[in-house]
Amino acid sequence: MLRAELIERAARFRTSDEDPSRDLQSCPSLVLNADYTPLSYYPLSLWPWQTAIKAIFLDRVDVIESYERHVHSPSLDMKIPSVIALKQYVRPSEFPAFTRFNLFLRDRFSCQFCGSQSHLTFDHVLPRRLGGKTTWENIATACAPCNMKKGGRTPKQAGMHLYAEPIRPTHWQLQQYGKQFPPNYLHETWRDWLYWDIELEA
Ligand SMILES: [Zn+2]
Repeated sequence: MLRAELIERAARFRTSDEDPSRDLQSCPSLVLNADYTPLSYYPLSLWPWQTAIKAIFLDRVDVIESYERHVHSPSLDMKIPSVIALKQYVRPSEFPAFTRFNLFLRDRFSCQFCGSQSHLTFDHVLPRRLGGKTTWENIATACAPCNMKKGGRTPKQAGMHLYAEPIRPTHWQLQQYGKQFPPNYLHETWRDWLYWDIELEA
């Protein structure tokens, strides 16, 4: 939850005046796997700097880049890390968890019937009363109006078409989709390690 909070806070900073690194409390470290790819794209894998520094002392991460800010204490004077890499590779599970967030991400946060991105909810493609299960393969993101319109019917009965058949995505697929949602704020030292599908502004 903390990571999600950080990324949301970071996303609100749009100008250099509001660079979060000016505020010590918002100097998150981008966390890379041992292969130097981000642990997660969406939400972007960010740790609070305190967590990053703890990991450095536990010898679990390497510092790749740093902010121009120091933390001082009687026993410590170091630059705050802005990019760190795990020393030990974390192998992602092949299939991601079946959660609301991951399901929305699979469907790119859009209704699978009309493309709307607001009032999103979930639709049982084969309705529950007809034996439809709550699984990756039978749940599609739908906006509330489409959900209402479809009611307890199959898409065919309702004369509605799905953009794509719901599938159980792989971890790799979800990561690819996550790249389509970069946060509004990216610290300059993070950019070399991220590959977004949209063009970054200079
Ligand atoms: Zn819709």
